[in-house]
Amino acid sequence: MALLDVSGLQIFYGDLQAVFDMNFTVGNGEAVALVGANGAGKSTFLKALVGLNEQRSGAIQFDGVDISSMPAEQVSRLGLIMVPEGRLLFDSLTIEENLLMGSVNRRTGSWTLRRVFDLFPILAERRRMYPGQLSGGQQQMAAIGRALMSNPRLLLCDEISLGLAPVVVGQIYQSFADIRREGTAVVIVEQDVKRALATTERIYCLLKGRVSLTAPAQGLLPEQLTHAYFGN
Ligand code: ATP
Repeated sequence: MALLDVSGLQIFYGDLQAVFDMNFTVGNGEAVALVGANGAGKSTFLKALVGLNEQRSGAIQFDGVDISSMPAEQVSRLGLIMVPEGRLLFDSLTIEENLLMGSVNRRTGSWTLRRVFDLFPILAERRRMYPGQLSGGQQQMAAIGRALMSNPRLLLCDEISLGLAPVVVGQIYQSFADIRREGTAVVIVEQDVKRALATTERIYCLLKGRVSLTAPAQGLLPEQLTHAYFGN
């Protein structure tokens, strides 16, 4: 059984339909990429999974539980956690306090403050600083660390490398190997398709709110992807 199993998902903003009849699965411990042009519906889809989009229909099963109309705080307790685009850290809390906020309602599991500091040592050094004093990449590490503190089963990462220096992006992507070793599955929304393909086992492409391609990440032909991405 898939860890996440979405079928026939439709998502609306008022009269505008943003996602059409979407099917999507993630296996236990699997890494899946979701790519697509600006406005294709990627963020809308991730938000709907964690219960942040009211106007939706279709089936969303997580670990065998129907979460399609579950409120966001209950979804997070099941271990489905999103790292939002733009990080959204608490500015008035230190880095350590931000991390600890992630452990409210945590599931039992192996992630602790210590483990997060092992994963991103710079956060240990800067634990008493505030988000505004850190670089964008360090803030992104803190956002991922905060999500890990809840012991997620599936981590949804929305454009985590946007605007970051390549070196930092490399460090963040390296951390996924450790995260997955703990048995956590990941969905990565990424503008850099090459990086997405190198990090995941399977890829989905969205085009104007519809899945235009789903395929193993390995061996995908560039023209297949271009066609799915741009629709021509
Ligand atoms: P990006 O890479 O730009 O974030 P995306 O693939 O994540 O793109 P979404 O942000 O999910 O795309 O947007 C999908 C569609 O829904 C777009 O047409 C967008 O204009 C629309 N949309 C997104 N958020 C809202 C909102 N709050 N109200 C109305 N329409 C919205």
